[in-house]
Amino acid sequence: MCDSPSSSSCSSLSLALAMGERMRRAAHAMLFPFPCSGHINPTLKLAELLHSRGVHVTFVNTEHNHERLLRRRGGGGALRGREGFRFEAVPDGLRDDERAAPDSTVRLYLSLRRSCGAPLVEVARRVASGGGVPPVTCVVLSGLVSFALDVAEELGVPAFVLWGTSACGFACTLRLRQLRQRGYTPLKDESYLTNGYLDTPIDWIAGVPTVRLGDVSSFVRTLDPTSFALRVEEDEANSCARAQGLILNTFDDLESDVLDALRDEFPRVYTVGPLAADRANGGLSLWEEDAACMAWLDAQPAGSVLYVSFGSLTVMSPEELAELAWGLADTRRPFLWVIRPGLIAGAGAGDHDVVTNALPDGFVAETKGRCFIAEWCAQEEVLRHRAVGGFLTHSGWNSTTESICAGVPMICWPGFADQYINSRYVRDEWGIGLRLDEELRREQVAAHVEKLMGGGGGGGDRGKEMRRNAARWKAAAEAATAKGGSSYGGLDKLVEQLRLGQ
Ligand code: UDP
Repeated sequence: MCDSPSSSSCSSLSLALAMGERMRRAAHAMLFPFPCSGHINPTLKLAELLHSRGVHVTFVNTEHNHERLLRRRGGGGALRGREGFRFEAVPDGLRDDERAAPDSTVRLYLSLRRSCGAPLVEVARRVASGGGVPPVTCVVLSGLVSFALDVAEELGVPAFVLWGTSACGFACTLRLRQLRQRGYTPLKDESYLTNGYLDTPIDWIAGVPTVRLGDVSSFVRTLDPTSFALRVEEDEANSCARAQGLILNTFDDLESDVLDALRDEFPRVYTVGPLAADRANGGLSLWEEDAACMAWLDAQPAGSVLYVSFGSLTVMSPEELAELAWGLADTRRPFLWVIRPGLIAGAGAGDHDVVTNALPDGFVAETKGRCFIAEWCAQEEVLRHRAVGGFLTHSGWNSTTESICAGVPMICWPGFADQYINSRYVRDEWGIGLRLDEELRREQVAAHVEKLMGGGGGGGDRGKEMRRNAARWKAAAEAATAKGGSSYGGLDKLVEQLRLGQ
């Protein structure tokens, strides 16, 4: 009861108390993704969804990416933030020459572990010190930054991991440790890469159908008993057990068996995807998006264009590039091809001439009028464009889910991490794609494109079936993320958990 003599000061005191109570109970998530597109994009989408449900958000980039985004046209606006949503940055500890080194991802990983812990704690304390902002009540991290579990511990708040791969990709990565302990990997010698050994069936990963050893993960393809990448993957995946919850960018119908198995192992699994279904919010693009490719698409007939892109990290040899180029040329169909700076081995990230020079002689003339080459594009918009009828992809999980959301069938050319298992599911479990052999051959590229996009005869029936399945999965993704759907409910549960702060 208020015992103040004045009723107005009494009511302002109760207001202040009520506000203080609201602040005390408000959830405030600090999100920190591994600093590459494949992690930033889904983490940002999750942040937007949390914010739309009333959660305060602090989204932390590395200073390097923050500045890179500020330099991009319009990037400054995206980083300005708004009521209850702020961007912050912490140093990644890398020098510019280390950033340009061929093993920059490894250096980045190690450097983040060394450099980011204390600055993240400092950010969490600082943002809530000015008044008007509730204290950080949880840390949401993406995969590969498990050190942030310690940050949450130091802050005394729960941590949630948004593991950015498919559920099947996560289940397989978890089992890398057993594969190593049971002697499946490292491989005995180089011949095991090609002698059929990678076809060894693996039938003991709970919730996952029998798969080839080679499809479990790219990391089994090592001869090195101390393989750094293999250890990092298994450690990072297994460290999710320390978090209060595991958040997956998938939906229940898409991966029901493996999700059931994961829910036996992890007490709190939140399926909130596909995050690509949230069309209101784009990502934070680290590269300038080519707007002209959209106008080019506008001029193409519906469903006629093959979109070709291998995400933000894939590197291919000049020979592979040439084989792919001629395969695409031979299709006689229009295609939009993203050749990102850095895609071609040996070419520096800013070395644009190398890209043009690496294209085989005669290719540009041969494909004139039906080929558009972009360095980077607004991929989600491209995939949803009515002109796009197929996607030749590296099967990164974001690209895969973006394609599912757009109802576009795929041709998969996996090469790294979970991309093999994703493409295994795309082709065999979901019936929405084909797969190229590891060794790119122009004849197979052209034949697969024909099968996927051909109208009648030949591969036409298979193509039709894949398009039908893709439309079905698109509808299922929409249903999952709409009110009443499983991912909508998953987000509700997650928000409730964040509010409880346990
Ligand atoms: N992306 C894009 N424009 C491009 C190529 C890719 O915006 O020209 C985005 C794409 O939409 C996706 C991300 O980059 O969100 C790539 O993530 P993915 O998991 O597919 O692959 P990764 O880059 O991690 O290998």
